Amino acid sequence: MGSITLKNVQKHFGEAKVIPSVDLEIKDGEFVVFVGPSGSGKSTLLRLIAGLEDLTGGSIIIDGKDVTDAAPAARGLAMVFQSYALYPHMTVRKNIGFPLKMAKMEQAAIDKKVEAAANVLNLTDYLERRPSQLSGGQRQRVAIGRAIVREPSAFLFDEPLSNLDAALRGTMRLEISDLHNQLKTTMIYVTHDQIEAMTMADKIVVLNRGNIEQVGSPMELYLTPRNLFVAGFIGSPR
Ligand code: ADP
Ligand code: MG
Repeated sequence: MGSITLKNVQKHFGEAKVIPSVDLEIKDGEFVVFVGPSGSGKSTLLRLIAGLEDLTGGSIIIDGKDVTDAAPAARGLAMVFQSYALYPHMTVRKNIGFPLKMAKMEQAAIDKKVEAAANVLNLTDYLERRPSQLSGGQRQRVAIGRAIVREPSAFLFDEPLSNLDAALRGTMRLEISDLHNQLKTTMIYVTHDQIEAMTMADKIVVLNRGNIEQVGSPMELYLTPRNLFVAGFIGSPR
């Protein structure tokens, strides 16, 4: 499960038509990257899918169900926040298990799910540490762990690596791709970084002023960009 369909999705903030109209099909298990310059509407589109913003018009369907008016928690999605969103006074174990604790799951069941997530993320040896005792990459993995335990039908990432240095960004790119290979869960990943888009995506969605310029695989966009904006952004030599 994890197919997401956007039909004529619109978002206005006052007079500003930030998302004029977007149609998009995301298949179950796809790794989709929303790429575009700052202000192109990437975060807004992700927040609309997550249910953190109300639509001005259109509809959103997840796994065949219209969720346009559904609360964020009812959508079965997990938004991965940047590492600074961890609770500093809680151990890694408690940080990862927090969503399950909030959902009043039994402690034994929580421990089992937390340990499984820690295993996938190579955090098993760090479960009793606090965020301040972790590297930046480990903190980011804890933030991802907190999403994994909820077993979402899709993960939504909004520039999760933008606070990390270049070397760590490279490592985390590989780790997130590896996670996708292991879990095979739909992922939507927002970035303004062309390299992230080209190396991680099954499908790239190029946004410009709230409009989709082109959708395609990295190779399709690279070899047959539809216009100069896509060509310039994806970095084709033409
Ligand atoms: P991106 O994530 O691609 O940088 P955003 O989705 O954050 O772009 O923003 C797209 C446009 O929408 C920007 O012009 C931004 O100023 C505007 N915008 C975003 N959120 C709001 C808001 N809550 N109120 C008014 N304008 C907003
Ligand atoms: Mg943004």
